[in-house]
Amino acid sequence: MVTFNLQIAPEPTMTVEAFTANGRPTLIRKQRTGSDIKLHPQASLDDDESESFSWELARQSMVGMSGGGLNICVEALDRHLGSSRAEHVAIRWLAAHGGLEEISFRLLAERANRFANVLQGLGLKRGDRLFLLAPRVPDLYAGVLGALRAGIVVAPMFSAFGPEPIATRMNLGSGVALLTTQALYRRKVEAVRLKIPSLHHVLLIDADPLDFPQACIDLNAMMKMASDRFDAVATRPDEMALLHFTSGTTGRPKGAIHVHEAVITHYATGKHALDLHEDDVFWCTADPGWVTGMSYGVITPLLHGVTMVVDEAEFDAERWYQTLQDQQVSVWYTAPTAIRMLMKAGAELARNFSFPKLRFIASVGEPLNPEAVWWGQEVFGMPIHDNWWQTETGGIMIANTLDMDIKPGSMGKPLPGVEACIVERLDDGGLRLIEQAGIEGELALKRGWPSMFRGYLNEDERYKKCFSGDQYLTGDLVRRDEDGYFWFIGRSDDVIKSAGHLIGPFEVESALMEHPAVVEVGVIGLPDPVLGERVKAFVSLRTAYVEGDALRHELLALARTKLGPAVAPREIAFVANLPRTRSGKIMRRLLRARELGLPEGDLSTLEGNS
Ligand code: AMP
Repeated sequence: MVTFNLQIAPEPTMTVEAFTANGRPTLIRKQRTGSDIKLHPQASLDDDESESFSWELARQSMVGMSGGGLNICVEALDRHLGSSRAEHVAIRWLAAHGGLEEISFRLLAERANRFANVLQGLGLKRGDRLFLLAPRVPDLYAGVLGALRAGIVVAPMFSAFGPEPIATRMNLGSGVALLTTQALYRRKVEAVRLKIPSLHHVLLIDADPLDFPQACIDLNAMMKMASDRFDAVATRPDEMALLHFTSGTTGRPKGAIHVHEAVITHYATGKHALDLHEDDVFWCTADPGWVTGMSYGVITPLLHGVTMVVDEAEFDAERWYQTLQDQQVSVWYTAPTAIRMLMKAGAELARNFSFPKLRFIASVGEPLNPEAVWWGQEVFGMPIHDNWWQTETGGIMIANTLDMDIKPGSMGKPLPGVEACIVERLDDGGLRLIEQAGIEGELALKRGWPSMFRGYLNEDERYKKCFSGDQYLTGDLVRRDEDGYFWFIGRSDDVIKSAGHLIGPFEVESALMEHPAVVEVGVIGLPDPVLGERVKAFVSLRTAYVEGDALRHELLALARTKLGPAVAPREIAFVANLPRTRSGKIMRRLLRARELGLPEGDLSTLEGNS
C-alpha cells in the first residue's frame, strides 16, 4: 500500500501553468494561502517498477490458458476463483431508484457462464459480434464477460444513442445479437430492426411478458435454464475481443478492433496509473458504452480483484457525493465534465459529506482545467490526476500518477512501457521529430503496447493512415515541457468532444441533411464551460423554406430523435451558404474561427478565393 505524505506549500503565491479556453497553455499567477497543499506527490508507490518495466514482464502477470491462449474473462474472473477472493464483492450495484445488490466474483463468474451458454445455445460462434445497448445493470456486466468467455466479440454502444447511430454501428459491425432492455428496444431499435439484416437475436434484460416485443428473447428465462459452467474458449492473444466505435471527421464511424491481450495494458495501467490494490473500492463513473467505461469500468477493476461501484443512475451532484461517502470509495476515476458539474453545484454541497476513505482521484476524456485540479484539493483534500488516452490506444498512456508532482493543466508523463514523442507530419509521408521543449506538434506513440487497436473494421486504408513507420499518430496536438510533462493543445482534426464523448461532425451533418428544407450543413464544436464543447450546426436552406424558430426547433427535434441527446446539436444557426474548399469540403475550421472571432488562417483553398 502507499504511505501518505502530503506536503504543505510554504509560499502563498505560486505560478502554475494553466490551460486557457482557446486551448493554449499559458502561465497564470495563482493565489494560494499558506495552508494549501502544493501539488507534490500525493504518496509514493510501494512497488515502483517503472525502471524495470517491460510488456514481456507484464505479460507474466496473466493467468493465461493452455496452448498460449489468453482470454479477458479468464483474466478478470478465474484468477480469483481458486482463493477466498472468490467471495469478495466484485460489483456493488446501486439501482437508480434505490436498493443495492452485491455480486461476488464467484456469482459474477456463474452469471457470465450462464450468459456464455445462452449465446452458444442460440448458435453464436467464436468471432460473432454481440452489441450492447443497456443501462448500467448487472446483466450488462455478466453479458460482457460471458461473451468474451465464449470468444464472441463485444461491441458496446451508448444507451443515449438514437436509432440511426445504433443501426449504422450494428451494420458496420455485422451485429448478430443485441443485448438491451425492453424500453430501449421499443424506443430505439424496433423501428430500425429491419434495416439491420445481420441481427438475428435480441436479448431483453427485463422482458415484460404482458407486452413482449415480437422476435425477441427473454434473457432472464434463458439464464435460468442455462448451466452455470462454461469452459472458456482459449482465444489467441491477438484475437478480436472488443469493437469500439469512434468518430472521425469524415465518413462513417470507425470500428476500432481490440484484442484479448489488451488485458495486459488494463492490468498494468490499473496498477501504475490508478494504483489499484485489492482492498480498494473503485468507482469509474464512465458508461461501458464508451471505451473508458469498458476498459476501466468493467475489465480493470475485476483484474485487480477490487470492489467496483456501479451506479445505474445518471449524474446528480448530491447522489455522487453520497455514493463516494456511503460506499467508502477509495479510488475514483471520473471525467472533467462531471467535475465541472460538481464545481457548478458548489463546494458547500460537498461539505455535507466526508470522504475519509478516498485516497486517489483521476480524470480522463477531455482537458482538465487547472481550476478543477485545485478544486479537488479544496473539496476532497487531494488533487485530481489527469490522464490521457483514446479509443485507439485501448488503455491509459499518459498520466499524472500518485508519486508525481502535478502541474495543473498537464496530462502528465508517459506510463512505463509507453514511448511517446511529438512529431510534425512531412509532405512525403515521413515525420520530423520535435525534440525541443515547448514546441507544438502531434502526439505519436511507438507501436508495441498490448492494447493498441489492430485495425478499423473493414477499413485498412484508414488504419494504415494512422501510422508512419512504427509511430502511431494520435491526431492530438500537444507540447512537452522541460520536465517531460505533456500538455494538450487541441485536436488536429474537426472531431468534437462534448461531455467527454467524441462526436463526428459528419454523422450530425448527415442526419440534418435528411430534412427536406436543408441544402447543406456544417457542424462544429464550440467551447462550453461545462461540456467542454457543445455541438453547433450551421444550416443553409432551400429557397422554398423560411428560416425561423419553428424550423430551428423542428431540426433540433429531428436530430435528437435520430441521433439521441448525446450526439444531437444544441444550437442551430441559419446561414446563406457555407465556406467550402475548392474540392467542395465544408471548412469547419473557418466556421469555428469566424464564430469565435479567431484569426481565419490560411484561406488559399477556400472556394471563390483566387
Ligand atoms: P475517445 O477516443 O472518445 O476516448 O477520445 C479520445 C480523445 O479525447 C483524445 O484523442 C483527446 O483528444 C481527448 N482526450 C482524452 N483524454 C484527454 C485529456 N486528459 N486531456 C485532453 N484531451 C483528452
